Amino acid sequence: MTNRRNFFKQATALAMGGLLLGKTESLSAATKAVNASTGKKNIGLQIYSLFDELYDNLPERLKQLRKMGYTNIELAGYSPDGKIHGVPIMEFKKYVDDADLVIKSTHVQPGVWEYTNSNKSQIMDYWKKTAEDHAKMGVKLLVQPGLPATRSIEEVKQVCDVFNEVGEYIKSNGMKFGYHNHDMEFARVKSGGNGAVLQFRSNDPKIYDLFLENTDPDLVFFEMDCYWTVIGQNDPVEYLQKHPTRIQALHVKDRHVLGKSGFMNFEAIFNQANENGITNFFVELEGMPQGKTQMEGVEECAKYLLKSKFVK
Ligand code: MG
Repeated sequence: MTNRRNFFKQATALAMGGLLLGKTESLSAATKAVNASTGKKNIGLQIYSLFDELYDNLPERLKQLRKMGYTNIELAGYSPDGKIHGVPIMEFKKYVDDADLVIKSTHVQPGVWEYTNSNKSQIMDYWKKTAEDHAKMGVKLLVQPGLPATRSIEEVKQVCDVFNEVGEYIKSNGMKFGYHNHDMEFARVKSGGNGAVLQFRSNDPKIYDLFLENTDPDLVFFEMDCYWTVIGQNDPVEYLQKHPTRIQALHVKDRHVLGKSGFMNFEAIFNQANENGITNFFVELEGMPQGKTQMEGVEECAKYLLKSKFVK
């Protein structure tokens, strides 16, 4: 199973290789009909959810997403050569416009694991080019989706210093910088430690909490992946209650299709997110059970959200 963390490690190798398999021949007829009542909800999709299926016919796939009820997307697969999965950014943007979708956000991350004083300029060079390209596309949210090295409290604080600097630069260019979690952000670290441990009961601080404490609220927001928060043995609702202004976007994700596993209480999550005024949320789907395509999966996810009264 390719999970998101592995995906980012392998992204360069996979980008053009077509190794993330999927077929889209069997889309249900329901995609052809737009339900008039569905246009009222602004439902987003993290396009990583489609793996390579998106690129067998990008313009058509985007139009199909709009017909399913999605109104906006979050990008994945940008590289600083000005392409998204090999498609030049402005060509990609045109296909999105033609499909009547909006690019709200993007997942982007420099290819640097350890943040040190010696490679900070390399990290900032990445963000300068990335900000420039995304400004051209009119994208407002730039989100880092994965952890750099955070094996001790000191290393976490160094990462936060870089996040603040990146956030300041992104803000000065009229956009916002955010961080997206998996489960390992809920691991705990020690001062001078050499590793992070995912442990429910401990007095050591969680990486995620250190991120919240040591980043500037004016410069860094959080996109909470609700599923990975649960897998990390934490409660997304509790975090939303405790940090109502810091968490400004959500990844709405389940084990496979939304609402099927029993892992996730989306009603409670959305009720709190609505109270907090969160309007940016993106469906994310990783591997589908055998025999189903990613397109079928994201369509089922859209149907779930469209019929759910707690999604406003
Ligand atoms: Mg996610």
